[in-house]
Amino acid sequence: MLLQVRAGFGQTVPVTTFLLPVEGLTITCPWEIGRVQLYPGAQLRSLLGDNAQAMLGHKVIGDVTTKFVEELEQGTVARVEATDIDAALDLLTLATDLLRIFLKRGAQFRTTMFGLPGQMYRSQIRYVTDGAEAGPGIRNRGEAVGVTFDDARHAAWLSSPTFTTLASLVGRDYPLDEGPRRALLGVQLLSQAVLEHRPAFKMLNLVIALESMLLERDPGTQTLRFLRRATYFTCGRAIDSLCGRDRPPCQFLALNPAVKADRGQLDWMRQLAEMGPPWRCGERASYSRWYELRSAVAHGDDDPVTSEEASQAEYWIFMWTLEPVLQWLVKHPVKPLEALDEALAALGPVPDWQKPVPNPVTYNPDD
Ligand SMILES: [Zn+2]
Repeated sequence: MLLQVRAGFGQTVPVTTFLLPVEGLTITCPWEIGRVQLYPGAQLRSLLGDNAQAMLGHKVIGDVTTKFVEELEQGTVARVEATDIDAALDLLTLATDLLRIFLKRGAQFRTTMFGLPGQMYRSQIRYVTDGAEAGPGIRNRGEAVGVTFDDARHAAWLSSPTFTTLASLVGRDYPLDEGPRRALLGVQLLSQAVLEHRPAFKMLNLVIALESMLLERDPGTQTLRFLRRATYFTCGRAIDSLCGRDRPPCQFLALNPAVKADRGQLDWMRQLAEMGPPWRCGERASYSRWYELRSAVAHGDDDPVTSEEASQAEYWIFMWTLEPVLQWLVKHPVKPLEALDEALAALGPVPDWQKPVPNPVTYNPDD
């Protein structure tokens, strides 16, 4: 409504201020996510200032404006300055992706949800059954709507350097460094995974999110690189004893898939792991299983992904993998994956019993 002018690269671009709805979200204080500002709905009229009276009392647009303002007041209002409405909605979508990831990180249980209108899957299906038990039925599927971000949650947000750094990038109009770029891609794919209810596509989004953060485009040894890097962030985190940092590294982290001799040993490790403890690494096995399922979907196989398996992967990744990976990408904005490989190379010697890796063909667990 209000026309402003913003300078960039020597040009002036007309910018409009849009006030947009976020459904199902209640906030108790304003939040800033880059160029998107969120306000409690009750503050809408004061945000509009003199324009409020002029619009609400207008003899042509007054009734419609009143209806829209009353709708916006029900939830959270986003204030976005952008060149057009679609640009404003794109910025708000990215901001809500970030908030959704923040909500889900470490979430122990199923959470309720919020989003832009139409973004959340909410479906009430009314149907009739035929036959002996003929009659009407109702099935509700999808999200339970309604999330409150109170002052304590806002304080937690402000005290997270990872999330506040990523938030500051929303609406940046110059190219991002590799680390933040990968982090924001991962955030959007993970948000999509949360909103996706079909198990196979949830799994696909979850794993591709990790790939977008942890893998460069280089088809050789892709799986091995993925498993090594993902496991680096979580192996032992659940028991507060990180592999290779709080204790000596296992061969799964120590062996480098870029080295041919190491690849041979990694294959032995894989075979030994299939025989069970002590060579089995539960986490590496999970990442490997999820990567398998992702590849099956991506390449047209019909391995079924159960909803239990998809929600287990979702739970684990949000509980343990997400935050350390985002943190790494924010802390290593330039060449984050090279830095990761250097950190892996510097983990120190593996325990004596793991070297050399025994040949699985002649391996006897009782020796
Ligand atoms: Zn380990």
